[in-house]
Amino acid sequence: MVKAEAVHKSFGPVEVLKGIDLEVAPQEVFCLVGPSGSGKSTFLRCINHLEQINAGRLSVDGRLVGYREKGDKLYELKESEVAAQRKDIGMVFQRFNLFPHMTALGNVMEAPVQVKGESKAAARERAEKLLDRVGLSDRKNNYPAQLSGGQQQRVAIARALAMEPKLMLFDEPTSALDPELVGEVLDVMRDLAESGMTMIVVTHEMGFAREVGDALVFMDDGVVVEAGHPRDVLNNPQHERTKGFLSKVL
Ligand code: ADP
Ligand code: MG
Repeated sequence: MVKAEAVHKSFGPVEVLKGIDLEVAPQEVFCLVGPSGSGKSTFLRCINHLEQINAGRLSVDGRLVGYREKGDKLYELKESEVAAQRKDIGMVFQRFNLFPHMTALGNVMEAPVQVKGESKAAARERAEKLLDRVGLSDRKNNYPAQLSGGQQQRVAIARALAMEPKLMLFDEPTSALDPELVGEVLDVMRDLAESGMTMIVVTHEMGFAREVGDALVFMDDGVVVEAGHPRDVLNNPQHERTKGFLSKVL
């Protein structure tokens, strides 16, 4: 579903991704862990067209992100083609980023109506089902300010799912939550994983990675230090940097 080959990304003179190689299989829950500043968010942002890579190859579902390949030449995609690629990718951020002036239902209906041109009736029907799925059918008419952080994050997940993505990216979805609200969001993510969604999850929740993850990559300073099954990496880290990091978060 995702293939990165020697992906490089710099901001000015600062190289943030220094040759990332990884593959995410369909239906896999792929956990990305590592210290702050190691490039995890930047990598997710490259997948979702929020940043452009400087070198290497990055593809989603067999198609290069942002480019078309003809022979050995690359052509940048048109804006409409980029928009079409982005529709297949849902992203959930640490900060929930809901539209504050819209209800939960309005937030979930917005993109299908505005981006896909779906009818309001159809968008409402799907939004209601999705809010039910994340356990918020009784909250659909509440505004974000009337919801807890955990509830807002569940609305954000429902909103991303409303576009029927092939791939979901989670960037520390529980890091901004009070501890007692983390579990309800992880439960929704676990359900989603069980439904077969392909997910890349940046997280410090090692319990989730161990129980739900199919693969885990430890990143530090813009490189993949270590990769494997979450149980193997977490129980038996091979590199000093991985050991040092895990001793702080486990
Ligand atoms: P992580 O998510 O692992 O904490 P990030 O991908 O957010 O790491 O950041 C990696 C490095 O890239 C950091 O040093 C950060 O300051 C830098 N960085 C991220 N975005 C930008 C940007 N838009 N401009 C300049 N530097 C950036
Ligand atoms: Mg980050």
